[in-house]
Amino acid sequence: MTLKLGCIADDYTGASDLANTLQKNGLATVQTIGIPAPSLSGAIAGAEAMVVSLKIRSVPAAEAVEKARAAEAFLRASGATHVMYKICSTFDSTDEGNIGPMLDTFGVAGQEREEGQVALITPAFPETGRTVYMGNLFVNGVPLNESPLKDHPLNPMHDANLMRVMQRQSRAKVGLANWDVVRAGVGALESRLAALKAEGVSGAVVDAITEEDLETLGKVASKAPFSIGASGLGLGLARAMRSAHAAVGSGAKGNGPALSACLAGSCSAQTLKQIAAAENVMPVLKLDAAALVENGATEVERGLAFAREHLPKGPLLIASSQSPDQVQAVQARFGRDAAGHAIEQGMASLAEALVGLGVRHLVVAGGETSGAAVDRLAIEAFRLGPEIAAGVPMLEAIGAHHAGLLMALKSGNFGAESFFADALAMMRG
Ligand code: ADP
Repeated sequence: MTLKLGCIADDYTGASDLANTLQKNGLATVQTIGIPAPSLSGAIAGAEAMVVSLKIRSVPAAEAVEKARAAEAFLRASGATHVMYKICSTFDSTDEGNIGPMLDTFGVAGQEREEGQVALITPAFPETGRTVYMGNLFVNGVPLNESPLKDHPLNPMHDANLMRVMQRQSRAKVGLANWDVVRAGVGALESRLAALKAEGVSGAVVDAITEEDLETLGKVASKAPFSIGASGLGLGLARAMRSAHAAVGSGAKGNGPALSACLAGSCSAQTLKQIAAAENVMPVLKLDAAALVENGATEVERGLAFAREHLPKGPLLIASSQSPDQVQAVQARFGRDAAGHAIEQGMASLAEALVGLGVRHLVVAGGETSGAAVDRLAIEAFRLGPEIAAGVPMLEAIGAHHAGLLMALKSGNFGAESFFADALAMMRG
């Protein structure tokens, strides 16, 4: 096994985002859906980085820890010398978790490791406007608690101070390594971490506002067993751990014309614009969300009839997405979770049926929607391909189910307005 870096991602589209960053920065990367079955070992041999995708961002902490423990054990047994727990770059979490409990489990205190280094913790990713200064997270220059994340439906973020946020979630002691230390370089950061360890600290929030800072963090983290970060820390780790003859670009490639379809379940502003743009270049069917909840099978069948008619002629898009007031009306009528779940399952049924009709290029918009589709297709893992848009790679399914299927999984606000056409063009190559 050539595996060096193991990652555990708390959701699927975040996992793709990280895998994209690792591949782009020189590590041959695979993204697995859960812990891969032994039968997959041939297909993933040769990977230098593996991102195990879990869905544990918003589940009870005990369940998240149990799943992460199993993934960590698998990654270590596969040869990973460093394991990073991948979080959202906006630190999505609540006072109950699920980031602090990971520090409690895998940090120095949790492992009772005498020799272990204090774990680095940073959601910084300057390329996407996430910077950390004096332990405070800024989103496009605005403190986290003043950014749109303050209104997030599942994890509203009311505090930009990550030491406080972490300390509320964690039993372990949390410290700070600030930008003065990071800017002074690897030696200074290591000395600071050693001093924090002597104070009984298990994890340190680390500032980073430039890519150079991330490289410093990567060099330091790569010598330790565990860290917590977003794709920015992944960038630093990849650059520190890649070999001189980095295998960038050796992943999945476009493979010519094929039956192609797009599914959209995200109702984010950007996805709505992308759907409008797609209407100029491909047939688009807008599903009736209430019908999907009340009478899913019939509405899915309507989607399929549309697909049967149009697929032979070219790509198409089927969307459940609606504007915020329409979404609110559906949620008020059926309940937010029940509506979301039923619509996700309807979209997953469509994904399964489309692939059954011979679709080999499939684009899915929406984090939860993508997760439901990938689970329904029982895809085991993906080989990484080129980047379609920042944070969204082209993926090629590997393993026992649907090997060779090209996919793109896009979380709500990612991608240009032309995203659907961009993704399909890249899949054709
Ligand atoms: P994003 O990445 O934008 O958050 P997700 O797929 O994660 O997208 O979440 C969108 C959620 O909204 C899903 O649970 C989906 O089923 C639900 N949904 C999709 N269309 C509608 C609609 N028209 N009304 C209400 N909820 C919807």
